[in-house]
Amino acid sequence: MSNKRNKALETVLNREANFIQESNEKISDTFARNVFHQDMMREYLPSDAYKSMMEAIQTGKRLERKMADQVASAMKDWAISKGATHYTHWFQPLTGSTAEKHDAFFKPIGPGRAIERFDGEMLVQQEPDASSFPNGGIRNTFEARGYTAWDPSSPAFLIGKTLCIPTIFISYTGESLDFKMPLLKALHAVDQAAVEVCQYFDKNVSKVISTLGWEQEYFLVDRALFNARADLMMTGRALFGHAPAKGQQLEDHYFGTIPERVSAFMRDFERESIILGIPVTTRHNEVAPNQYECAPIFEECNLANDHNLLLMDIMEKTAEKHHFKVLFHEKPFAGVNGSGKHNNWSLSTDTGVNLLAPGKNPKSNLQFLTFFVNTIKAIHDNSDVLRACIASAGNDHRLGANEAPPAIISVFIGSQLTQILNDIEKNVSSGKMSPEEKTELKLNIGKIPQIMLDNTDRNRTSPFAFTGNKFEFRAVGSSANCASAMIVLNTIIAKQLKEFKIQIDKRIDKGESRDEAIFKELQKMIKESKKIRFEGNGYGEEWVIEAEKRGLNNIKSTPKAIELWSNKKIKSIFSELNIFSERELEARQEIDFENYILKLQIEARLMNDIVQSQIIPVVIQYQNELIKNIEGLKRIFDEKQSNLMSKTSVELLNEISIHLNALQNECKNMLIARKKANDIENLKEKANSYCDEVKIYFDKIRYHADKLELLVDDEMWPLPKFKELLYIR
Ligand code: ADP
Ligand code: MG
Repeated sequence: MSNKRNKALETVLNREANFIQESNEKISDTFARNVFHQDMMREYLPSDAYKSMMEAIQTGKRLERKMADQVASAMKDWAISKGATHYTHWFQPLTGSTAEKHDAFFKPIGPGRAIERFDGEMLVQQEPDASSFPNGGIRNTFEARGYTAWDPSSPAFLIGKTLCIPTIFISYTGESLDFKMPLLKALHAVDQAAVEVCQYFDKNVSKVISTLGWEQEYFLVDRALFNARADLMMTGRALFGHAPAKGQQLEDHYFGTIPERVSAFMRDFERESIILGIPVTTRHNEVAPNQYECAPIFEECNLANDHNLLLMDIMEKTAEKHHFKVLFHEKPFAGVNGSGKHNNWSLSTDTGVNLLAPGKNPKSNLQFLTFFVNTIKAIHDNSDVLRACIASAGNDHRLGANEAPPAIISVFIGSQLTQILNDIEKNVSSGKMSPEEKTELKLNIGKIPQIMLDNTDRNRTSPFAFTGNKFEFRAVGSSANCASAMIVLNTIIAKQLKEFKIQIDKRIDKGESRDEAIFKELQKMIKESKKIRFEGNGYGEEWVIEAEKRGLNNIKSTPKAIELWSNKKIKSIFSELNIFSERELEARQEIDFENYILKLQIEARLMNDIVQSQIIPVVIQYQNELIKNIEGLKRIFDEKQSNLMSKTSVELLNEISIHLNALQNECKNMLIARKKANDIENLKEKANSYCDEVKIYFDKIRYHADKLELLVDDEMWPLPKFKELLYIR
């Protein structure tokens, strides 16, 4: 019997191990070798151009045309000296991946002659024909143009023979069509708001950057097996498949040794990443079989995000060389853990202070406490938009499924800080503080230890956890662009810090001293935001009940989360801080609905296709074998004996026939539900219909198909099984 699965298995088992020639170069020698970074700029640029460039990077100021020409020329010289022939504007359309359009450096200047050309204009702006990128109705066809514009704060880099220039992507009318532009705006907003608050503590602070350290989880499967499964190829997840007898129950994969073929792949993609200046450091196994994680040292948020997208790309390309496929889907395999992308986040000043690290003395502790409590308050006031920004069809399989944080947003801070916040909250009084109160508060603040003891044993079930000197947003999906979460987080923090400053200044105007004003405002905020703090088990059923009592939202499905974007309060925050106009938000919401519908449509269609063209034919074939067997037995044995001798086959035939009919029935039911959903015009209703009326058949269909997988002859089964996808390397 030679079906696709068996051929794939044969291919995998005959693979030659470790065929990649490894480089012996020292990592430190190769770091950022293909990046046009600061040192390269200094080397290639005249000094005035270098200065303007540094200013543009630090302050976001526009480069003058003349300077842009010089930068372009330097960039071109550098790239050509390294063998480049083309350049591309590298951008992040709302599809979720990255896009590029390559142009050659050279320009023909007469018969048989050409010069290498790349000037400021080409560096700063490009006009890809972008009508096929999602735009949520922003671009009408007559203005089906989008511009990409250079982001000087992220350095250009070289991949193969192409110079890649990080850019934003905007419509002809100036609306953002990507993730980068709003991220840059949010980072600017948080910078401004945080600097103002820092002024209460240190006049020397003139810039605050947001830092991001992501942890990327992923699965690896052999390419041959992947290609034998249309569901993995088209949707990134297995729509069918019985959990293997040995799953992750033993948890022996976590931090276990990494198989040689996998570590060869890791070394290879890490080497490529290092050359592009991505500071990847950690690698280890994750909980599920064939699941891994990779994390770099944190960086400035915009750069860190570019690096995450770049890394995902490098991983996919490198995997090809190693005959692997990387799965970034949040839940490729039912029954084993899914993948996330923890976003570790903090704020850091140009004076070298991490604003979320407790300090050495009471004064710096008050600054820490200010940013710490403001963060909690921001999450408390804006938990809905935080929920909305992590919503996706893939993430729905994880959130609240006892393996990832629940869909309820809460904040974990550990027992020490809980104690301190509780103590501070206790002496809330109206009116002026007594000297005793002041002393007590100072004492409480003085108690904040520089190193949090209980964070070594921190709560992994919280969606938003304080981990000693940063917050970790854990609910982000593994395939997501971190920008989505980082735009929201930095925006709501900016909004909160602005509000905080207004309140403090009011208090000071009324005659309170600066410290007293800060103390009292913090007390008030601690009290107001108390319900968002939760230290217990976020996976437990009790938390769902408790959260409801507290009035916290538990938004379980993506369509419901996407609906939140039209919330008035959310719209006003984004437009007030100039991150998204109402039109941009509406466009994004539309794109989110469309994406969701499309994903479910594809999954539903594919499910039916696989059942009809792969599963049912094989089941019928096996049924026929059983029938032949039963008939044969009947011929050979007499009446009394035959009943006995064909018992197994008859029972099996029965069971198979029951599941087969049920399978076909559910497929028919799903078809009716799909037709109904497809007839709906309104995107919100359509998305909800797919979620509530179509998706419910996925589990039903799968249930019968997975039963059949166990009943039908293993040799005949057409789809590579989980035990093969997860264990063969
Ligand atoms: P875990 O135990 O969750 O795997 P680690 O303690 O190893 O996490 O750190 C996770 C990530 O947090 C790393 O990428 C690290 O660089 C990042 N990180 C550390 N400090 C900061 C910070 N101040 N801002 C942002 N990210 C940070
Ligand atoms: Mg983590």
